[in-house]
Order: sequence, then C-alpha cells, then structure tokens
Amino acid sequence: MKKLIIIAAAVLSLCSCSVLTGIDWNAEGLASAAGKAMTAASITDEMVVELCRQSIAQLDAQATIENGPYAQRLARVMKGVNDINGVPVNMKVYKTDEINAFASGDGSIRVYTGLMDMMDDDELYAILGHEIGHVCNKDTKNSVKNAYLASAARDVVASAGNYGALASYLLGDIGEALASAQYSQKIEYKADKYGCQFAIDGGRDPYSMYNALQKLLTLSQDTNNSIIAHMFADHPQTEKRAAKVKAQADEYKAKSSK
Ligand SMILES: [Zn+2]
Repeated sequence: MKKLIIIAAAVLSLCSCSVLTGIDWNAEGLASAAGKAMTAASITDEMVVELCRQSIAQLDAQATIENGPYAQRLARVMKGVNDINGVPVNMKVYKTDEINAFASGDGSIRVYTGLMDMMDDDELYAILGHEIGHVCNKDTKNSVKNAYLASAARDVVASAGNYGALASYLLGDIGEALASAQYSQKIEYKADKYGCQFAIDGGRDPYSMYNALQKLLTLSQDTNNSIIAHMFADHPQTEKRAAKVKAQADEYKAKSSK
C-alpha cells in the first residue's frame, strides 16, 4: 500500500495537475509521469480521458477534416446521441478512403469518409454503436492504459529526460491504440452486442449491425483496411459474430411482434 501511495504522490507532483482540483494535464507532464514507474492501477480515469483528448487533438491536426456533406450526414444520423457515459460527444469526419471509425472516453467520435461511403445510415449508426460500446465496456480505457505503459517503457527516451519527445511518441502511440485497436473475439462480441442494441434503441433496423458486419466481411476478402483489422482481428470467427448479432436481432423481432 505504501508503495502505491508513493507512486500516486509522485504522479501528482510530477504532473501539473491534481485529480482533486480538476484536470490540467499537459503532454509533458503526462510524459514525465510516464517516465517514472507506473502501473495500470496508478493511471486514473481522469488521466485516461485527458490522454484520449490530447491524442485525438494530435490525430485531428494530422487529418483532413471534412466539414461538408459528410459531417452534416453524420450529425443527422447521430442526432440524439449527446454523450458517451455522460461525457458530451464531439464528432468529426476524416476525409480519407480508409474504412475506419473509433470513439474514445473523452467523448470523441471520429468517422472516416471511406466507411461512410459504404454504409447506409442504419449501418453507420450500428457501427458507431459498436465503437461507443468499446468505450462503455472499458475496452478503449484498457487499450489506452496499455499504450501509455508501453510508451513509458521506452527507456531510451525517458531516461534521457526528453519529455517533449516522449510526449509526442506517447500521444502518437495512444492515437494509434485508439484508431487501430485490436481486440479479442470476446471483446468484439460484446461490442457487437452493444452496437446491435444501440441500433434497436435508436429506432434503427435491428439487423443493421448484422448488415454492416456482412458488408465488412465481404470487403475483408480483398482489402486490408484498418477497420477490417480492428473488427476482424480473428477472421475465421467473423461469421460467428455476424450470426450472433443476427440471432440478437431475430430475438428482438420475435419479442416485438408478440
Ligand atoms: Zn470492435
């Protein structure tokens, strides 16, 4: 216990912030904390949210943001989805052929035009439900923590005390963890289930998660896009995932027709 208190005290004193007085993390403060001995348990929820916020700011700065018809469509499709776990959402579209989307604990939802081009509104809604599911199921939080700890283990940067450089690596690694997360099948099942229910609750076609998975399954046979990598980490299992959400939709339909 004493060791934990020392680590917590070190984190608080190294960062220009206190979780008790509000959030004022800066990238170098986070990096200097990362340069010290840390464990997953010592990374607070507030810290994860701030890591997400800064990493996504870096991704946004590198991306081409679409503010035209795609952004308008996204706003229309997601109308009524105002928060993720109580954190207000902020949505942006990245203009790229890549087929991807992700959400994070700071309320960010990022959608690539490549994905929007291939999905109808209901399918897009279900996929974003799947991504929000990863946040609500704490998958993104764990992914961010792991990326943070891995960055902290970059001895060469940390030991040189070059926290500015570490901060840049750190945010890049966490951005990568958010945008290209690879999860186990079990975790994907849960996110699919969440996405399917999200679509049902949103008044969308109950089969939209299933339809979206089918489209991605077809596409995965001839491309190597990041959402394919993310959503199909274990490719042979993909049909099982589709079958599960189909069963979930069937069950809903059967109940609602009684
Ligand atoms: Zn997923």
